[in-house]
Order: sequence, then structure tokens, then C-alpha cells
Amino acid sequence: MFIDKERQENIEAIRAGIRQLCKDFPESYWQEKDKQSAYPEEFIQALTKEGWLSVMIPEEYGGAGLGVLEASVILEEINRSGGNAGAGHAQMYTMGAILRHGNEDQKQQYLPKIATGELRLQAFGVTEPNAGSDTTNLDTMAVKKGNKYIVNGQKIWISRSQQSDLMLLLARTTPKKDVKKKTDGLSTFLLDMNDQKDNITINPIDTMINHSTTEIFLENVEIPEENLIGVEGKGFKNILSGMNAERILIASESIGDGKYFIDKGTTYANERVIFNRPIGQNQGVQFPLATSYMNIESAALMRDKAAILFDNGDTSGNEANMCKYLSSEATWEAANNTMDLHGGYGLAKEYHIERKFREARLYKVAPITNNLIVTHIGQHVLGLPRSF
Ligand SMILES: Cc1cc2nc3c(=O)[nH]c(=O)nc-3n(C[C@H](O)[C@H](O)[C@H](O)COP(=O)(O)OP(=O)(O)OC[C@H]3O[C@@H](n4cnc5c(N)ncnc54)[C@H](O)[C@@H]3O)c2cc1C
Repeated sequence: MFIDKERQENIEAIRAGIRQLCKDFPESYWQEKDKQSAYPEEFIQALTKEGWLSVMIPEEYGGAGLGVLEASVILEEINRSGGNAGAGHAQMYTMGAILRHGNEDQKQQYLPKIATGELRLQAFGVTEPNAGSDTTNLDTMAVKKGNKYIVNGQKIWISRSQQSDLMLLLARTTPKKDVKKKTDGLSTFLLDMNDQKDNITINPIDTMINHSTTEIFLENVEIPEENLIGVEGKGFKNILSGMNAERILIASESIGDGKYFIDKGTTYANERVIFNRPIGQNQGVQFPLATSYMNIESAALMRDKAAILFDNGDTSGNEANMCKYLSSEATWEAANNTMDLHGGYGLAKEYHIERKFREARLYKVAPITNNLIVTHIGQHVLGLPRSF
């Protein structure tokens, strides 16, 4: 509806390209990775080699110069195929901080290498154990000494830190007590994790999904001043636009999961015959599936709106939040419906539903919990009193 014909045709070509690539990585591949809690290295390399992870990098820095809308379709199709795009998504959008807020030297130095995959910038270091959803309350401190920042602190839930060369780090450069606005005094840095490996302790967190997520201790980590992205003390603003892209892209993975559940549920509801008729003939099976389909389609429309606003440089925060909420809720509903209609077989690993069911649950929590989205809409869109 908002997308012109030429762009739509290009999007369809992207869908076809990703579907083709995903044929080499069937559900048995993802099941095995899940079983071993292993990183899908072969898949990420194949995506990188074909240039799919660098689509949002401008052509002058070696990427395809496409928008978040095209990137969304890539992640959606991966998840729809039964895969898990979370293993590579951050390589697409974390570089946005350099692109939008970095200086020309930083862009020249990093973006072409991120585009080829020579450098992996897949780690986004924001969350802390004592701050949680209250990001601006974080404690990790970066103190300027000469031409370096010395960083001490702890991060949690930092995904793919063991698969990345670089981390985009949010740290405090002014103590909380000295800032007037709570969003001030935070800065963004590009941390070279290979260079500082002796000062960084990374502990994997065992989770119910295969997500390569970790807790991190930073002890006297040194970051050269030229790795400060944007203006010192204004880092929170830098990551906000990136967070909008992240929410739109992660909503797209969730939409891909939703479509996966609808595909699987529909096939099974047509094939499984009980009481001498396909189970999908029963309204108790058919209606929940049809309802989920509509909810996922409408979440996808909100995703498209958010992506187009973002790509046009318009404010997309409300839509980015809404599409993340709507897609994760619709997909979780679809996950439950498809689990239900599989009867006992939904729980059998060979049907893959249980793996996707576990994976789909994440999007209600990360990258931001749905409660926090609702509070944002209540407060900033409806103008209701602040709840916290
Ligand atoms: C697998 C995984 C991967 C992740 N990857 C990354 C990553 O790469 N980088 C990164 O920085 N972070 C990452 N995260 C962290 C994620 O963004 C946080 O878990 C999330 O923002 C919630 O923070 P929390 O877990 O501390 O929950 P809390 O903030 O402790 O919240 C707990 C519950 O209380 C609710 N709550 C809290 N305050 C309010 C309120 N005022 N009103 C209503 N409800 C409220 C929340 O909605 C939630 O339901 C990841 C998390 C997971 C699980």
C-alpha cells in the first residue's frame, strides 16, 4: 500500500533470494544447532558472502544502500523458513550508530570491513543487571585518562559477544548524580574486543533458546578516544535511532516466526485426519488459525509503515514500538494455536514446533519488554500520566 511498484518488485526478488539460500539450511540444520547450543556459523557465512547482512550500508562503503524495509524482509524470510535470524541480525543494524553519528574517519575505517564481514559488529552492550529496562540508570563508567577512556562495569544479556570483533558499548561518562537530565552523561563507544580480551570476561548464559548470549565484566578496559561515537554525554540519543531500526527488524523476525506457525499449522490441519475428517474442518481448529493469520498480517502492515517512515528519515519511534508489540503478541498467539493443533506431536522435537515455540517467546521480552512499549504508548502517544 505504501510501497511503490519498483521497490515492491525488488522486495519480492529479495524474498526469492533468501528462500533459495535457506534451502541449504533446512530445519534439521537449526535443530542440530539448537541441540548443541552452537552458533550457526555456516549459515552466517553464507549470508555474509551473498551480501545480505550489509544491505543497509551505503554503496560508497561497500553495502547495497537499501533500507530497513528490505532488511526486514530478509530476516522475516529466514525465520519463516524455520531458521533463526537472530544469529546475524545485529550485523545489519548496529553499524547504524557509526553511519548516523560517527565521523568520516570512523565510517571509512569500519563500514567497508563490516560490509565484507571482515569485522563483525554483532554485539550491542546496553543492558546491565541493576538497570534492566531502566537503561539510563546504568552504572558502567568510562573515565577519560589522557587520550583513552578506562571502562569498568558489568553488562548482561549481551548477545554474540563471543562471535564479534567489535561491540557498540553504552557507558556513563558523567556520574548519575552530576547530570540534570537522566538521558545525559551516557556515551557510545566502539570497543575492539580482540584488542582488550585480557580485560574482558565473558560468561555464556544458558537459556531456553540457542541465542549465544552472555554476561560481561569489563575491568580497566581501554578505549582510544577516537572510538567515541558522536558527542560525549549524548550517547543515549545515538542509540535511540538504532533501537528503532532494531525493533523494526526484530519485529520482522517475529513476523517470520508467525508465518512459519501459520504455514505449519495449516499444512498439519489439512493433513491430520481424526473422526474421519481433517482437523482443520473443525471450527475450533480453523478459527484460531485464521484469527492468528489476520493478526500477523496486520502486524506486518505496521512493520511496513514503521520501516518506510524510518527509511524516509521520519520519526518512527511509535510505529517501531507498536510493530514490535503487535508482531510478538500475534506470533505468540499463533505459536500456541499451532502447538495446540499438533496435539501431542507439537511437543515432539522432530516436528520443530517446540523449538520455534521457545524461540518465538523471546520477542515478548527483548529487545524491550512489551510492558515498556505499552507504557510508552500510554505516556507519549496518548498523553496519559507517567507511570514511573
Ligand atoms: C536472549 C536475550 C538476548 C538479549 N540480547 C541483548 C543484547 O544483545 N544487548 C543488550 O543490551 N540487551 C540484550 N537483552 C536484554 C533485554 O533487552 C532485557 O532483558 C530487557 O530489556 C528487559 O530487561 P530485564 O530483563 O532486566 O527486565 P526488568 O527490567 O527487570 O523487567 C522485569 C519485568 O518487569 C516489567 N517492568 C519493569 N518496569 C516496569 C514498569 N515501570 N511498568 C511496567 N512493567 C515494568 C518488565 O516489563 C518485565 O516484564 C537480551 C535479553 C535476552 C533474554
